[in-house]
Order: sequence, then C-alpha cells, then structure tokens
Amino acid sequence: MKRIFVFALLLLTATSTFAANKLNIVSTISDFASITREVGGDRVDVTSIARGYQDPHFVEPKPSFLLLLRNADLLEVVGLDLEIGWLPPLIDQSRNAKIAVGAPGYLDLSRGVEILDRPTGPVSRAQGDVHPLGNPHYWLDPANAVRIGIQIEHKLEEMRPDDAAYFQQRLNTFKQRMNDANKRWTAELAPFRGTNIVTYHNSWPNFVRRYGLNVVGYVEPKPGVPPSPSHTFELINLMKKQNVKAIVMEPYFDSKTPQSIADRTGAKLVVLYPSVGGGKSGTDDYFSLFDTNINNLVKALK
Ligand SMILES: [Zn+2]
Repeated sequence: MKRIFVFALLLLTATSTFAANKLNIVSTISDFASITREVGGDRVDVTSIARGYQDPHFVEPKPSFLLLLRNADLLEVVGLDLEIGWLPPLIDQSRNAKIAVGAPGYLDLSRGVEILDRPTGPVSRAQGDVHPLGNPHYWLDPANAVRIGIQIEHKLEEMRPDDAAYFQQRLNTFKQRMNDANKRWTAELAPFRGTNIVTYHNSWPNFVRRYGLNVVGYVEPKPGVPPSPSHTFELINLMKKQNVKAIVMEPYFDSKTPQSIADRTGAKLVVLYPSVGGGKSGTDDYFSLFDTNINNLVKALK
C-alpha cells in the first residue's frame, strides 16, 4: 500500500513538472488560442478569456480571469483598443510583471497584420465609436490568420529557443493547411462575388474583402452604438436600392431590429460566428469556424 502511494506521488510530481514546462498562454479571444494551439502543439497550454459567443468589446471581468493572468507567461491581445473596456484593470490587478503592457510577455497581434479602416484624421471615440484606431476584427481573414501564426511562432521561439525547430515545423504545416482551406473557401464563395450585403456590426471588412463581397451598410449607426429608428429607416431605403441579399449578424446581438429590416427588404438574416466557439457546434477551431460561416453564407445567398 505504502509503495503504491509513493509511486502515485512520484507520478504526480512528474506530471506537474511536465505541465510546468509548458508555456502558460492566455489570449483575449478564442481565435488566437486556436492558432496558438496549431503553432505551439504540446509545448503550450492556452486559455482564452472571451468566449466565442461573447462580444469581445464588452467582456464582464471575473475573478477567475485574474488567476489565469497571474500564472501567464504570455498574454496575446487583439489591440487597437478592442479590449480597452475590460482588460487594463485585469492586467494591473494580476500583478504579473511578465505580461504588463510593453513587457516581453505582452503580445499585441495587431502589429503584424493588415488593418483596415485606419483613421486618417485625429482619433476620436465620438458618439461611442468602439473602433477608433482602425478595424480590430482583423482575424477574420486567412491571410491575417497566417500573419498571426507567424508572430506567435516568433514569440514562442524567443521564449523557448530549444523548441524553435518544433514551432517552425508546426507553423509551416499551419500555413499549408490554411492555404489549402482558403482555396476551397474562395471557390465556394466565387459565385457570389460582388454581392451586396449589410452587417450588424462592422466586424467583417477583412472577410468580405478576401472573398469579394460588398458591405453597403450596418445595422448599427456606428460601431458599438445600438440601432436607432432614423438610421434603420435610411438603411431600409438603401438596401432596397442596392438589392441587398443578406444581413449578417453575430450570435450575441438582438435579432429584433435586423429581422424586421430583413422582413421589409426581402433580405435574409444570417448568423455568422466571429470567433472560434461562437456556435454550439462546428466552430471548434479556426478551420471549422470558416467552414461553418461560409456554409451558412452560401445557403443564405443562394
Ligand atoms: Zn467591433
């Protein structure tokens, strides 16, 4: 009995030592967690703070997030002020110098990707605009997913130089798979190039540019501002003129206004998931997220 106990204790120690060797990574959104798993494989433990079915602009802070951040070696953020409403106090209160803004364990992934809607004039958060520094939903384009993977690989290599070859190999596999998948997605959406759509929030500029769709308007008058009667009236007129086929919305918005707009214009209301884990099924990783979204979109536009 005693021997069994000692053996169990040894096993436990060995397991925890092994787990301690993994890099502890926290990402603000689930999409970065998915890409980090692709690149980091079994050398990383990744948890994301925002769930895929939550609006990443407005995440309710929880004590469990502090614990996650306290133990993190690396924090991956979207940047461009996407997390400004909830992340800074969590970082402060975690008292983890490794992941403080500007520390080596703070990785702002907006630095190495293509950003759309960059402001040309002075930056303003006037009237509640939550996209003051450019569009922060940049992960919804496979080319940017690859750029995100490259930045993550560089960081992992810097933190664990002995595993460099392993991370490089995994990044190459990820790039290849992403390239192949994107060819499939492009072919599936090819018949709908040039189609006019409306989206609830301005989350899809990178996505629609990749696949040749046009967004002609938004249900929100400004990003982060709920629909108003006068804006809705103008949008309905615009949609009739522009022959808009579909209204795209995220699962976390109220469907009442977009559904009534759809009813009055003949457009279809379609739910697309902006993040991994946003749907009950079929959004388990970045690849299945795109499979599901493109499938839903094709069905709506047919
Ligand atoms: Zn947004």
